[in-house]
Amino acid sequence: MSDVLIIGAGPAGLSAAVYVQRAGKSATVLEAMTFGGQIVNTPEVENYPGIKKISGFDFAMSLYEQATELGAEIVFDKAERIEQAEGPLWRVVTASGASYEAKAVILATGAKNRKLGLEREEELTGRGVSYCATCDGAFFKGKPVAVNGGGNTALEDAMFLSNYCEKVYVIHRREGFRGEPKTLEALRAKENVEFVLNATVTRLLGEEKLSGVEVTDKNTGDVRELSVEGLFVAIGQEPENHGFENVAALDPLGYISAGEDCLTATPGIFTAGDCRTKAVRQLTTAASDGAVAALAACSYIS
Ligand code: NAP
Repeated sequence: MSDVLIIGAGPAGLSAAVYVQRAGKSATVLEAMTFGGQIVNTPEVENYPGIKKISGFDFAMSLYEQATELGAEIVFDKAERIEQAEGPLWRVVTASGASYEAKAVILATGAKNRKLGLEREEELTGRGVSYCATCDGAFFKGKPVAVNGGGNTALEDAMFLSNYCEKVYVIHRREGFRGEPKTLEALRAKENVEFVLNATVTRLLGEEKLSGVEVTDKNTGDVRELSVEGLFVAIGQEPENHGFENVAALDPLGYISAGEDCLTATPGIFTAGDCRTKAVRQLTTAASDGAVAALAACSYIS
């Protein structure tokens, strides 16, 4: 049993663990995959205040070490549901059948990569289709690749890949980008980057592995094939909170309904980071949520 059980070891969950431990309470963090969350997929973080430049992986590693050195326990197991235990305690049951009890729970489940929803997407994942340029980019050195998306992830992935891939197509469904203008400008200056705008990927080509993508122009309906060996899908994230609906209301998109105070409608259940309803999903706001939720949880149990 611990004072606070945190579900998710991304930046929000690990920041919460740091704050819980420093408040003199005990934190256990449950993580289904690996620590760090989405940020480990980011080649370079250049907008975290106080750190000019750091790789997403190094940032995650440093935060993990900070939390564990303060005494937080990290358990690699998938939290599946939350139920009321004896008295004021909550019980979290995991995929392995284990259960953990705590006086308060912080849901910091983050979000997972959105899929294109195309035929053979799953089959070609790991055979040319990837959702993580940092993890898989090196396999495509000197080869032509495409990045799909118009947010910061897509732009940063394209920037990263353009340093060693022969050619990088940036496929985006409209002309305006969500990503930072500074990164877009830097990308536009690259000779080996070509923008394919107002276009969507409509077919994945290749048998054993990806050999190209078919893109369709949204305005004209024109179809074009791009010969690429890699497709990096960076079209945003989706939450995965359905197991926790009994303790936390979800908005229509599946995010946990909570304001900047990180309180859910259930006393003792808090939320932090990308999994909650919010306007800005950044590393800074995830860390900030972690602190807010942790202090609220510590105040609730004291
Ligand atoms: P995002 O900002 O939600 O952008 C997703 C992009 O994919 C959008 O351009 C969107 O197009 C497009 N898209 C969505 N669904 C699509 C579909 N079915 N088919 C084709 N295109 C589709 O996602 P993100 O880039 O992963 O970023 C997520 C959050 O993390 C953002 O807040 C971002 O700023 C943040 N982030 C921060 C950093 C950093 O701080 N260094 C790095 C990476 C990400 P539309 O624009 O037309 O909707």
